Amino acid sequence: MIMNTIYKFNFNNKKTIVRVDFNVPIERDKVTDNSRIVAAKTTIEKIISDGGSCILMSHLGRPQGHDNNLSMQKIHAEVESVLKTKVILSRDVVGNDSIMKAKNLSNGQVLLLENLRFHKEETEGDLAFAKKLSSLADCYVNDAFGTAHRAHASTTIIAQFFENKFFGCLLEKEVKSIEKVMKSGEKPILAILGGAKISSKIPIINNIMDVVDHIIIGGGMSFTFVKAMGGKIGSSICEDEMIPIALEILDRAKDNNVKIHLPTDVVCAKEFNNEAQSKQFDIYSIPKDYEGMDAGKNSIEAFKKVVLNSNTILWNGPVGVFEFSNFSHGTKELGNLVAQSTSNGAFSLVGGGDSVAAVKKFGLQNKVSYVSTGGGAMLESLEGKTLPGINALIS
Ligand code: AMP
Repeated sequence: MIMNTIYKFNFNNKKTIVRVDFNVPIERDKVTDNSRIVAAKTTIEKIISDGGSCILMSHLGRPQGHDNNLSMQKIHAEVESVLKTKVILSRDVVGNDSIMKAKNLSNGQVLLLENLRFHKEETEGDLAFAKKLSSLADCYVNDAFGTAHRAHASTTIIAQFFENKFFGCLLEKEVKSIEKVMKSGEKPILAILGGAKISSKIPIINNIMDVVDHIIIGGGMSFTFVKAMGGKIGSSICEDEMIPIALEILDRAKDNNVKIHLPTDVVCAKEFNNEAQSKQFDIYSIPKDYEGMDAGKNSIEAFKKVVLNSNTILWNGPVGVFEFSNFSHGTKELGNLVAQSTSNGAFSLVGGGDSVAAVKKFGLQNKVSYVSTGGGAMLESLEGKTLPGINALIS
């Protein structure tokens, strides 16, 4: 994809409206994880160092109309601290206050608009609302990968009002990382798919089948496959209605010369909690009153060979109930293997929800090549969809 990135433009003397994703977690009026704000820093700094000014816009939470608890006031101090500069805050989004503050904005200054989702027009993708937003600035930058799969006013609709519209650094990095796996991945290419349900991963499996050489299927998903092949999975999580689809996937993999690796042994428990007593069983013969909770030792040993032999790795979904420390071993070991393979030269992309949480929990985020910031956006990209926010920048 040919991307019009911010490095192809000089923002001197320009007011640039930047869609960022500052939807950060807040507890007792404190931002508990500022990584999304940090992720937007490079883009903002480039615009400011060119001699331009930034108007930042984001959503925060899911307000129904104006809600003081989800006001940008809650994150204002954190944004200033991360950007190491004074940030002007507007009391509204497209009202008199923001219009006046945008008008008076000087080169080098940063303005943060109030929460976009205080207006229902944002998620409705309202044209007039997008036009009002656009009238605040000369240029548009989208750096919010996390919402690029939504055709909202600020992420998609607004782009049509600008001649000068660009991919921010973060958006560019996200798109390039996905392309590095899906379009130009060095073989052998491995996808590790885990998580609870096969049903939510089918579009991804179908799309990656033409690209990858190996698929490791772990976690709750694996039991539907094992049952489909005649295994006894005890009370493990299973989607019976997906059994025919699982068999189809296995057939397609054979036709495409894609090797599927399933766990061979699993750590099981009689109850779904961290303190439950655990026992390891062959995945094809789990007793009735036990459920599979984590990948077993032999499974990880077998996965090790595949992971260390791969030059490109995509990881989506944990291979066990990693939230319970006693059942997190398999996911942690697998994470360590992905890190080891990365240090041996492989490109590794971790994305989509819980695998990101797992990688962060085990402190591996700097030991893999790229950790995606977008949950749904990442999943839709892996399904092969072109995201509306990205389409709007290239058309
Ligand atoms: P997903 O959102 O589909 O990627 O699923 C992530 C969830 O799958 C995590 O919360 C894990 O705890 C859960 N999970 C992984 N393995 C299992 C398993 N064997 N049984 C039940 N849940 C699992």
